[in-house]
Amino acid sequence: MPPIHRSAVHPSAAVDAGPFAAAVEGGGRLDTVGGGEPLRVAVLGSTGSIGTSTLDVIACSGGRLAPFLLAANRSVGRLLEQARACRPRWVVVVDPAAAADIGAAALPAGTSLAVGPDALDDLVQSAEVDRVVSAIVGAAGLRSTWAALTAGKTVALANKETLVMAGPLAIRLAERTGGRILPVDSEHSAIHQALRAGSPDEVLRIVLTASGGPFRTRPRETLAQATPQEALKHPTWSMGPKITIDSATMMNKALELIEARWLFGLPAAKLAVLVHPQSIVHSMVEFVDGSVIAQLSPPDMRLPIQYALSHPHRTAGPARRFDFGRATTLEFEPPDPERFPAVRLGHEAADRGGTCGAVLNAANEQAVGGFLEGRLRFTDIAEVCARVLDEHPFQPDPSLDEVRRLDAWARQEVVKWASA
Ligand code: NAD
Ligand code: MG
Repeated sequence: MPPIHRSAVHPSAAVDAGPFAAAVEGGGRLDTVGGGEPLRVAVLGSTGSIGTSTLDVIACSGGRLAPFLLAANRSVGRLLEQARACRPRWVVVVDPAAAADIGAAALPAGTSLAVGPDALDDLVQSAEVDRVVSAIVGAAGLRSTWAALTAGKTVALANKETLVMAGPLAIRLAERTGGRILPVDSEHSAIHQALRAGSPDEVLRIVLTASGGPFRTRPRETLAQATPQEALKHPTWSMGPKITIDSATMMNKALELIEARWLFGLPAAKLAVLVHPQSIVHSMVEFVDGSVIAQLSPPDMRLPIQYALSHPHRTAGPARRFDFGRATTLEFEPPDPERFPAVRLGHEAADRGGTCGAVLNAANEQAVGGFLEGRLRFTDIAEVCARVLDEHPFQPDPSLDEVRRLDAWARQEVVKWASA
């Protein structure tokens, strides 16, 4: 195995390097890969796109990983189906109303039901949980990720919103408790892998790639008329609806810039975005000597999920493989700032830090909901986000309560704007 540097991050601020540096060190229960007891995994958001891919990774792990807990919000039918297929110790239905009709007979032998967000927090902190896959969508995922980090767990983090909303707080928490954060987002996983090629002070820049979504080449003047059906047709990735809309606006890249800023501890000036329509190069690190190290693979989230669950090792798994027998073209182009104003908002929020990430994320979640329900136009999403971000009462070092308060405030501002 190549040497792994103690800190894969730029040591710009003490708070930045913590859990990621520890994560890059590896060790702990991961060393049971290849022998010993299976790692018991809590899958938060198991019925979603990332959750389903995670269960596939677990099923193909040859017994190295075992499902301990599956949690979902309301999709009870799907959750029970998953429970019957993989026999976890617990299933958790977060929305109590959705759990009302589950009879004891619906559960397989050996699986118990728990209901509500408090039950989820308690179970995530259980000593029987070795790894947590945080894959609840949106700000709703912050709470259980927080519970996991509070208990010092190693979290495979798909819920980028945790870092977007409260990056420095989450990192300080993990530093205190010994928790670790391993990225699942494909770009951040690619960077995590590429950073192994050099030391932190040799990193010049990180380049996040973006597919450009379904509207990469659509004329700008027609974007206001784009429908939810059109925006939900992603050219390369199959994902949940919220992140699919974020890919169409490129707000997903804005959130990922903020995520990268905290995860890798690099200033915003060292983070760049490049459109790459094939989604094969998942991101790159440019080092001071001009070398660019990239991670390539077909678009398949099972690979970054598995990497986060097997790190620092690599194992065979279910992810699709590159076909070297086929001619392949890789294209790169800078994002068009006129068509995708959200990218600038991401740079700005990553640069200012403080409450900007929480406000941008909440305004966007509310606006995406409004767009999907036909109350906002596609182009309104970035416009209202820019306005709410500009007008919010900025705080450089907010508490978690302040983050939550501003999250609620930003949603209200979008509602007011939409109904004006
Ligand atoms: P999804 O919509 O497919 O699934 C969401 C899951 O979260 C479901 O299991 C749902 O039951 C659960 N959920 C929703 N609201 C909840 C609540 N209030 N409480 C508890 N559970 C709740 O979403 P997804 O596409 O799998 O994305 C999940 C997360 O992963 C998001 O943060 C997204 O940004 C991130 N992510 C996804 C992809 C991808 O390929 N889908 C890639 C990178 C990052
Ligand atoms: Mg991503």
